[in-house]
Amino acid sequence: MKQIVLLPGDGIGPEIIREARRVLESVAQAYEHQFCFKEALIGGAAIDATGQPLPPETIEACLTSDAILLGAVGGPKWDSIDSSIRPEKGLLGIRKELNLFANLRPVRVMKPLINESALKPEVLEGVDLLIVRELTGGLYFGQPSERRTVDGEDGVVDTLVYKKSEIKRIVHTAFEAARKRQGRVLSVDKANVLESSRLWRETAIEVGKEYPDVLLDHMLVDNAAMQLIREPKQFDVVVTENLFGDILSDEASMISGSIGLLPSASLNDRGLGLYEPVHGSAPDIAGTNTANPLAAIASAAMLLEHSFGLIEEARTIETAIETALINGYRTNDLASDSKKGITTIEMTDAVIQSI
Ligand code: ATP
Ligand code: MG
Repeated sequence: MKQIVLLPGDGIGPEIIREARRVLESVAQAYEHQFCFKEALIGGAAIDATGQPLPPETIEACLTSDAILLGAVGGPKWDSIDSSIRPEKGLLGIRKELNLFANLRPVRVMKPLINESALKPEVLEGVDLLIVRELTGGLYFGQPSERRTVDGEDGVVDTLVYKKSEIKRIVHTAFEAARKRQGRVLSVDKANVLESSRLWRETAIEVGKEYPDVLLDHMLVDNAAMQLIREPKQFDVVVTENLFGDILSDEASMISGSIGLLPSASLNDRGLGLYEPVHGSAPDIAGTNTANPLAAIASAAMLLEHSFGLIEEARTIETAIETALINGYRTNDLASDSKKGITTIEMTDAVIQSI
């Protein structure tokens, strides 16, 4: 029996994870699988209960599980807390503890939403890209940041460190993914300015030689940000470092219609995966039963595919999501200004109906 650890976290996290679990249970029933669920604490919820954002029991539960489904962490309640025990440390910590270096963020445009977007239909039609973001290195994991005096005034130092081996493995992930897709990798960097980006580019070219069947290209990150909006169709697999990937994937989420739609997978080299929506804890709408559960539900589909190899089941969930949208179901984030959206629970019910 497969064990799934649920880490609901904070804000809308518990609301959407509850819904994703309902969908997984309905898939288990439809396909006669058995999934066993175990809940553990992370983020602000863990700070409130134990004083720390990533309790050892949570790490232990994750290490002994088959896959992990996470909601989101953080919120204003913990804003003034000591910086060493911030909720976000729980998320960065679990990524580091489990060595989840590869973050996969697929961006597809849902047909039923194409005519409701701020972008033109001809720009959106056919967009299907995958952002592969390095997740355990770079600026977010440099030497401890420090405030210090620089040239006699208040200043600050953040450091960006990458080892070549870290770049290599994430670029390999991108090439492997491209082989299963359209066979194109775009490596995004800022090689005209940053030394780290020059090593990144060199390494991408080196790794690329092992994949003669995959086309490798390079783009500067500022141009990539522009091209994502101008002509998103041109992209297949985009591979980039931690900070650039964070920003580009939030940007790319608007191509799909809402940040409330986008799933992600974070994988290590032993095949363990943590799945979570791209969005955060959305404290502004927490507790109102209005959050869009589709990103969490799509994350559950990625879990079935990548961690359990249940590809048909994953497709069933994805099709059920699309069907709910075709049938006109919209939560507030997708509804037009004049119309009130349906609730989190109603959206999930719509998905479950067609499983
Ligand atoms: P983080 O730093 O954790 O990534 P963030 O500052 O990027 O968080 P989010 O929590 O992702 O912010 O929220 C950004 C905006 O998107 C908010 O207005 C929020 O209400 C909205 N939002 C995020 N997720 C959803 C969702 N699932 N359904 C509806 N609205 C959402
Ligand atoms: Mg964000």
